[in-house]
Amino acid sequence: MSQPNNYDVAVIGAGVFGAWTAYSLRKSGARVALVDAYGPANARASSGGESRIIRMGYGPDDVYTNWSMRALPKWKELFAQAQRPELFKQTGVLWVAHNESYAFASVAALAKAGISFEKLTIAELRQRYPQIAFDDDSWGIFEPESGVLMARRAVQAVVEQAEKLGVEYRTDAVVAPSLPSGRVSTLQTTSASTISAKTFVFACGSWLGKLFPGLLGNRIFTSRQEVFFFGVPPGDRRFEPPAMPTWLQLRDEFYGMPDLEGRGFKIANDRHGPPVDPDGQSRIASPSAFAIARQFLARRFPALKNAPVVETRVCQYENTSNGDFLIDKHPAHENIWLVGGGSGHGFKHGPSLGEYVATCITQGGATDPRFSLATKQTTQKRAIL
Ligand SMILES: Cc1cc2nc3c(=O)[nH]c(=O)nc-3n(C[C@H](O)[C@H](O)[C@H](O)COP(=O)(O)OP(=O)(O)OC[C@H]3O[C@@H](n4cnc5c(N)ncnc54)[C@H](O)[C@@H]3O)c2cc1C
Repeated sequence: MSQPNNYDVAVIGAGVFGAWTAYSLRKSGARVALVDAYGPANARASSGGESRIIRMGYGPDDVYTNWSMRALPKWKELFAQAQRPELFKQTGVLWVAHNESYAFASVAALAKAGISFEKLTIAELRQRYPQIAFDDDSWGIFEPESGVLMARRAVQAVVEQAEKLGVEYRTDAVVAPSLPSGRVSTLQTTSASTISAKTFVFACGSWLGKLFPGLLGNRIFTSRQEVFFFGVPPGDRRFEPPAMPTWLQLRDEFYGMPDLEGRGFKIANDRHGPPVDPDGQSRIASPSAFAIARQFLARRFPALKNAPVVETRVCQYENTSNGDFLIDKHPAHENIWLVGGGSGHGFKHGPSLGEYVATCITQGGATDPRFSLATKQTTQKRAIL
C-alpha cells in the first residue's frame, strides 16, 4: 500500500458509505484502497448497529425515495452474491401517522413512484395489530416490501465482496492532509505508513468534524442516540414477524423493529441527543433515556410494559444542518471528496450513494446541489426524517 500512486482512489472509512463507495469504484475498474481506523462497521461507527430500517417513504423528498428504491434490489443482490440472504428481513414497514404533512406527502410520493403500499384506517390498524395501542386519530401507511438490513454484518459483507473484486482493505487511522490547499498525492497514517492515490474519499461519518475542524467542525452535528432491546414474553409470537412489522411512530418520534433472530424488541428515540465524541463517548445507556423508552413502550405496547431489557446500544448520528447528505469536493483540495452526513437515515442508501460517488469521481460532472458543502449550514434545522 505504500508504493507511490498505487491507487486510483483511497477510501477512508469503512462504514456503509465508504464500503459501498469502494465497492462501486472497483466495479467501475478503479484500483481502490479502503482503510478504517477501527474496522468495518465497528462498535463506534454509526454503521455498527445490529439493524437498520430500509423504507421508501420520505415525505416530499423524492430524491431519497428514488435512492432507497434503487438501493433495496442492490442490497439483495449483494447478499445473494455473498450467500447471506438473511441480512435483509422483509418485515414490512408501518408508518403510524396522524395529521403530519410528511405522511400525506409520502403517500403521494409512493404512489407516484409505483411503490406498493397500503393506506390503513384506524379500524384496520387496530384489527391487524391488536398488540399496539393507537390513538383514535391514527392512520397508517404500510410498505410490505420494505424491512430491515442487518447493519454490521451487511457492511462486513460489502467489504468482503469488495475485497473479492480486488479492493485492498486494511485497518489504520489516516491523518488529515497537512497542506492548507492544493492536490494531495499521499496521506500518512498513525502507524507511520503512506497511502498514495490520485483521489481520496473521506467517508468518516461522525469523525468528519474532527478530521476537518475548520471546515466541518460546525457543519456535522454528532448526537448521542440510545437504543433498547426488550425481551418478549416466553413463547409470545406477537412481537416477531409477520405479526409485528418494523414501525415508525411519527407523533412520538420513536421507531422500532420486531424481535429479530431472538435479539429482542428494538425501540429507539429518533430525537437528537446531546453532542458527543465518537471515539470516547460512553456506550453505557443512560437512566434518563431508559426511563423515556420504558414509558413509551408501556404506552404503545402495553403487553411489554414490564419487559426486561436484554441489550442496549449507544451510537451517534452524524447530522448535517437539515439532514441532506454531504457529497462534495473539499474546497481547498480538488482531489479530496467529503462523503457523510447520513443524519440518522443514511444506512439504507449505501448502494445508491456508492454509485453516485463513483460516478462523480470517474466521470466528473456537477453534483446535486442538495448534497453540496455550500448548502450545509452551521445551525441545525432538521427537515429530512
Ligand atoms: C442508532 C442509529 C439508528 C439508525 N437507524 C437508521 C435506520 O433505521 N435506517 C437508516 O437508513 N439509517 C439509520 N441510521 C443512520 C445510518 O446508520 C448512518 O447514516 C450510516 O451508518 C453512516 O455511515 P457512514 O459510513 O457515513 O459512517 P460510519 O458508519 O460512522 O463510518 C465511518 C467510519 O470512518 C472510520 N474513520 C473515522 N476516522 C477515520 C480515520 N482517521 N482513518 C480511518 N478511518 C476512520 C470510522 O472508524 C468508521 O468506521 C441510524 C444511525 C444510528 C446511530
